[in-house]
Amino acid sequence: MVGMNTLVRRGVARLGIPCVWRGKCVSSGNEPAESNRVTPMLRHLMYKIKSTGPITVAEYMKEVLTNPAKGYYVHHDMLGEKGDFITSPEISQIFGELLGIWFVSEWMTSGKSTAFQLVELGPGRGTLTGDILRVFNQLGSVLKNCDISIHLVEVSQKLSEIQALTLTEEKLPLERDAESLVYMKGVTKSGIPVSWYRDLKDVPKGYSFYLAHEFFDVLPVHKFQKTPQGWREVLVDIDPQVSDKLRFVLAPCATPAEAFIQHDERRDHVEVCPNAGIIIEELSQRIALTGGAALIADYGHDGTKTDTFRGFCGHQLHDVLIAPGTADLTADVDFSYLRRMAQGKVASLGPVEQRTFLKNMGIDVRLKVLLDKADEPSSKEQLLRGYDMLMNPQRMGERFNFFALLPHQRLHAASQERNARQSKTPASSVPGFDELVWQ
Ligand code: SAH
Repeated sequence: MVGMNTLVRRGVARLGIPCVWRGKCVSSGNEPAESNRVTPMLRHLMYKIKSTGPITVAEYMKEVLTNPAKGYYVHHDMLGEKGDFITSPEISQIFGELLGIWFVSEWMTSGKSTAFQLVELGPGRGTLTGDILRVFNQLGSVLKNCDISIHLVEVSQKLSEIQALTLTEEKLPLERDAESLVYMKGVTKSGIPVSWYRDLKDVPKGYSFYLAHEFFDVLPVHKFQKTPQGWREVLVDIDPQVSDKLRFVLAPCATPAEAFIQHDERRDHVEVCPNAGIIIEELSQRIALTGGAALIADYGHDGTKTDTFRGFCGHQLHDVLIAPGTADLTADVDFSYLRRMAQGKVASLGPVEQRTFLKNMGIDVRLKVLLDKADEPSSKEQLLRGYDMLMNPQRMGERFNFFALLPHQRLHAASQERNARQSKTPASSVPGFDELVWQ
């Protein structure tokens, strides 16, 4: 692989922390409660339920995670060793670097446009975009005439401040306007403009590469149980037996979100995520209109799993109904639904397992380069631990998946090229989904 040797970083892999990542276990909240604390969020929800009746799980998730005043994501830094969970970019720099290569490779294949936007949904601490920008910097000679801008879609005030610290030049003050659709603006350490939005719809509709890593899994899901009377939605209600406690109940009759369940559905319990559909439609329309691509990485399934709603606090599973607002809530992404929502507008690829995607992107070569550069045995050990976390099928290697949206003509061009070369490569030649080949 050409170019990888140039991507040298003086630092070493990030913490190889032995902790639980969000995709590891499945829980529907049956674990023993750690506490029965009455949080401000619990008080808020009990008030809401008392006034209007039981709420859907989607509304519960939305309130708990992103309520502008008390939401878990809004005022918390939950990532890393001291937080509630750890993500791939926080584990190893290699992850973001390989994704950076993916975007550069797609930019080259699709004709080296004179400008592109890199748009990240739910950027956490800004680490992933930071690692990608380092790759762009290292490949400066390739990208030198390309006008790049960064657009971050983030609802968390706390995390947007951390993203700014990670990405921007301290000496250049940030522009802030809480009332504006672009609520913050700055310039990255390498001189690239960066803007923050609360909603993807507010990001300019230019030629873009979109990235969503562990973003779709925090979008609110509706849960349904099959009963002899048909599908019934799972709701959150106040427990009449125990004070200050919530419980799950079934809706007595059909509810509107049932429309999202497939007519031929065979499972007896399903989770549907209308917000994911809205975002995929928006991404698909944009990509169909202007080109570019979207790379989505998350843990999930292809329309096969049932009850995946769970909570995480301090790297432990956490009962989803206990002390709301103090723990992360998440549900596995249904990639078959994302594929259906993109159908007809753009082509989709995947899901492929993280270990396959990263292997195809050249993780082994990159690891070797970094190991050769690392002076300290402890640095080598961290690099190897990070690699194992990302790649080991028992850890993140199989549970996490990559999924891409691309213009139809991109895959068409790939198959024509393959035919012309009479290549034996079976899959499309989109890197990650197939082995990376530099043009
Ligand atoms: N991508 C990062 C962080 C994942 S955590 C990583 O892999 O490390 C989920 C991220 O999505 C956080 O940044 C959270 O604040 C953000 N988020 C959650 N709900 C959101 C929403 N509805 N719109 C925009 N961002 C959201």
